[in-house]
Amino acid sequence: MTADESSIPIVDFSRWAKASSEEKKEIAKELTDACISVGFVYIVNHGVSDEMLDEAFGWSQKFFALPEEKKMLAPHPAGPNVHRGYSWPGLEKVSQYIHKDEDGDADAKDEELRKIGDVKESYEIGSDECTNQPNVWIPEEVLPGFRPFMTDFYWQCYGTAQELLRALAIGIGLGDPDFLLKFHDGHNNQLRLLHYPPVEAEKLASDSIARMPAHTDWGSITMLFQDDCGGLQVEHPRKPGVFMNAPTVRNAICMNVGDLLMRWSNDYLKSTLHRVTSPPLSGKTADGKSMTRARYSIPYFVSPNPDALIECLPACTNTQNPVKYGPVVQEDYRRMRAKLQYPEKQNMPGAAKTVSVA
Ligand code: CA
Repeated sequence: MTADESSIPIVDFSRWAKASSEEKKEIAKELTDACISVGFVYIVNHGVSDEMLDEAFGWSQKFFALPEEKKMLAPHPAGPNVHRGYSWPGLEKVSQYIHKDEDGDADAKDEELRKIGDVKESYEIGSDECTNQPNVWIPEEVLPGFRPFMTDFYWQCYGTAQELLRALAIGIGLGDPDFLLKFHDGHNNQLRLLHYPPVEAEKLASDSIARMPAHTDWGSITMLFQDDCGGLQVEHPRKPGVFMNAPTVRNAICMNVGDLLMRWSNDYLKSTLHRVTSPPLSGKTADGKSMTRARYSIPYFVSPNPDALIECLPACTNTQNPVKYGPVVQEDYRRMRAKLQYPEKQNMPGAAKTVSVA
């Protein structure tokens, strides 16, 4: 089915910093309306400079071009609780399945879902002050300058995230523009470098391998930076199961609402399913197989503080609209969602049974 590519709204933030409170309300309304109707929105002139973004993608390419044994000097720790360091192709399995007690043998279900590996590698970075998830840095001598740049970039992204959270608070009508910000000190966010290597197009199309299957994000908001490869698709707001291409808008933030903010807002803001699928083809190999292009993307996941109690925002409930969800502590929610994505025991690279990266 053809998708309407124009249906993800674009919001221009260039006026935001100097806007009067009336103008702020207008921009905030545009942003919030997009989160209500689609759950996805492009933000241009957001404050993270083009130079910085070019540099971030340059570092990401340098990192993933390192030999495997160098990347493995900063391995993702075993188990689902710490999400930092390098994840090799096939380690992570993104899934929308959430454990429920009545489902019985959850581990068997996990195992079944893992059979189709996701062909991607990633490197996760957090705040150095986040004690429950310590960073796993690549040694400075392996990639001199990487750590200071990424630390700076992490906090630049947080600066923009603060303004987006202010705009959402105004747009939702929370009264205090800092209402949401008070729950987000920035130390619980996550910067993720992602590399989807070129793969055989046929294998992607036949689902024997996947780039990133349909999922929603867990946190408050996700700010995605992406190269011009393409492949991101977003579920149509009014046609369940139909995915629209999200065109690449140079240096824009593709922002989406996460499940926790949807829950917080009593489903007023929408957390929308999205996936990464086949991008345009980039030619053929010697044996005639069509190859997809590599894709690089950098999502920045914004989450409330670990001890934040997420309970229905006062502006999002009234007598017609009763509270749908009980309160939940962020850290408990995160652990519940992380359990499926990373196995308790992990295979080392090369030992992954299901995935081979062409
Ligand atoms: Ca996502």
